[in-house]
Amino acid sequence: MKFTVKSRGDHDSNMITQKIKNYLQEFELTYNSEEPDVVISVGGDGTLLEAFHEYTDRLYDTAFVGVHTGHLGFYADWKPDEVEKLVIHIAKTPFKIVEYPVLEVVVRHHGEQKTERFLALNECSVKSTEGSLVMDIEIKGDLFETFRGDGLCISTPSGSTAYNKALGGAILHPSLSTIQLAEMASINNRVYRTIGSPLVLPQHHTCLLKPLNDVDFQVTIDHKTLLQKEVKSIQCRVAEEKVRFARFRPFPFWKRVKESFITD
Ligand code: NAP
Repeated sequence: MKFTVKSRGDHDSNMITQKIKNYLQEFELTYNSEEPDVVISVGGDGTLLEAFHEYTDRLYDTAFVGVHTGHLGFYADWKPDEVEKLVIHIAKTPFKIVEYPVLEVVVRHHGEQKTERFLALNECSVKSTEGSLVMDIEIKGDLFETFRGDGLCISTPSGSTAYNKALGGAILHPSLSTIQLAEMASINNRVYRTIGSPLVLPQHHTCLLKPLNDVDFQVTIDHKTLLQKEVKSIQCRVAEEKVRFARFRPFPFWKRVKESFITD
């Protein structure tokens, strides 16, 4: 089996990364950062997001596992003092794979055929950099509403505990093949009206955002911000691809939610 280890880059994460690399090579696993079967991220959820983006072209062949070094660790659920245990699991036991949906984002530009396609593990957010963002929101081909406000966040169920949660969105179990659309400070009065509640769309419903004014806005895919110009539409839906996590022991989602946000 081929593996790679991705570190957040701080001293502790680098030490643990080296330790994992040495142990796994002692077990005669092959270090291969080009075509890994397993990607171990050492750091926080941000590190796992980076690892995901590095291997989006190999999602069918790669499984992710995260070790957290001090941060929240929603995705990164192994602790540094469990590294030996984790290494033995990876080397010796066949592991279970759990697959969760990811978000597909297609950005189309005015006056050109060019389209850009992205995958997000957490979410895509669209935010104005000055003034209000005004966008038509179409769902499954029909105009649903005209949004006016700070921005919109379209998240995966795995990302529902991240930015989406801060916007009052629901926490969704990551086994659900859905995307969630949450508003950022919408303007609601007699003139402008939006639904005001987060919407959860099933797999076969596409959500299309069409900018109506020419304010500058930024599109962020997980941790990466893209400055977009001349955007005609942003299309979001559940992607064909899925993210695969290597599971070596049960770690129920609701337990993780409780331990991360209420009490451990
Ligand atoms: P960051 O601003 O350095 O950290 C964002 C925080 O979100 C970190 O504590 C991170 O955990 C945590 N996180 C990431 N994914 C999560 C998930 N699925 N469930 C629960 N918590 C999660 O940014 P970053 O590390 O590059 O991560 C980018 C993410 O930040 C975006 O995808 C977005 O979801 C989130 N974000 C949140 C807000 C907000 O809540 N107001 C605003 C902007 C962006 P670790 O500490 O373990 O890395």
